[in-house]
Amino acid sequence: IALMRRERAWVEVNLSAIAHNVQQIRRLLSDQTELMAVVKADAYGHGATTVAQAALHAGATWLGVATIPEGIELREAGIDAPVLVLGANHTPEQIRAIVHWQLQPTLCTPRQALIFADVLAQTQQPSLSVHLKLDTGMSRLGTDWQAAAEFVQLVQRLPKLQIDSVYSHLATAEDPNRTIAKQQQQRFEAAIAQINACGIYPPRLHLANSGGTLSDATFHYDMVRVGLAIYGLYPADHLKAVLDLQPALQVRARVTQVKTIPPGTGVSYGHRYVADQERQIAVVAIGYADGVPRNLSNKMEAIVRGQRVPQIGAVTMDQLMLDVSAIPDLREGEVVTLLGQDGNESIAANDWAAILDTISWEILCGFKHRLPRIAI
Ligand code: PLP
Repeated sequence: IALMRRERAWVEVNLSAIAHNVQQIRRLLSDQTELMAVVKADAYGHGATTVAQAALHAGATWLGVATIPEGIELREAGIDAPVLVLGANHTPEQIRAIVHWQLQPTLCTPRQALIFADVLAQTQQPSLSVHLKLDTGMSRLGTDWQAAAEFVQLVQRLPKLQIDSVYSHLATAEDPNRTIAKQQQQRFEAAIAQINACGIYPPRLHLANSGGTLSDATFHYDMVRVGLAIYGLYPADHLKAVLDLQPALQVRARVTQVKTIPPGTGVSYGHRYVADQERQIAVVAIGYADGVPRNLSNKMEAIVRGQRVPQIGAVTMDQLMLDVSAIPDLREGEVVTLLGQDGNESIAANDWAAILDTISWEILCGFKHRLPRIAI
């Protein structure tokens, strides 16, 4: 079966790279700081359950997901580590699912807290650990930091809700200029001081994503929530000096046809590439439906036999073409590396992100659908 899965195109996930990255991140943390592996969006396209197991084995103690079904998938795989649902939920069905699957919700507003208390009152569940989200400058989920004390006091008074943590999220953590992140931190600490002044001491505080974790130990508090760095990518180049990360994801596909085209021949939809001289081209069985962004057409490279070759013409839904004139004896069935290492050459998600003016996170998430995933 493993061979069959390598027939057309596939994703290899290097679990020892995941373990290595978790260990590297742990080395930045004090013994008191816990590490949450953020495995939402199917572990950024790497496969949630295998990554979660590898990360827990290597030193993570919490898991973070965005949605309830993502949490359920972990539980169905037998994972019993604490799972925080980072997204907001407020329907009775969602709340019952959270209770049933022993997930831990994020509460973002007093209204959500009241709904949770209402629904819990109708269940046998004695209590539910909840995590209160403050908005300190991301302008996304959370109660405004200036209203934190009222929010936390309300939740404290509600029956069955047990405050496990108060947290916030950084908007510019990877920016070398830390002015905004530091302002968020000051707001977070001011909110916590107000909460403490009411006699409430949340057991856990957390603020940092990968960028915050790598850039400043004062962002670590009791836990860090790390996604991207676990997958072996740096949130920004200046953070490369901080630790040694290994990209875990490799994307490979087979050559399905090799042909020689005369000068003047157009390639692929729209003939956006026209050969200026005779070329040998390879058709490769991977396309935008698999996660290779179409906007990389004519701009990306791939690695064949340890050698970089240019991609030519429009990337199509299931296939793309390479100029392999430099490898005259290339044969059908040979393996092409789109992302990852082959010999001394490697291409990483951040290389594609730079071409596309986007971020590595988005590139990785593109691989969560069609391709078989093979843990190596
Ligand atoms: N915490 C929250 C609330 C998030 O939404 C995310 C992901 O976007 C993370 C942590 C992990 O972020 P990163 O992948 O940058 O480490």
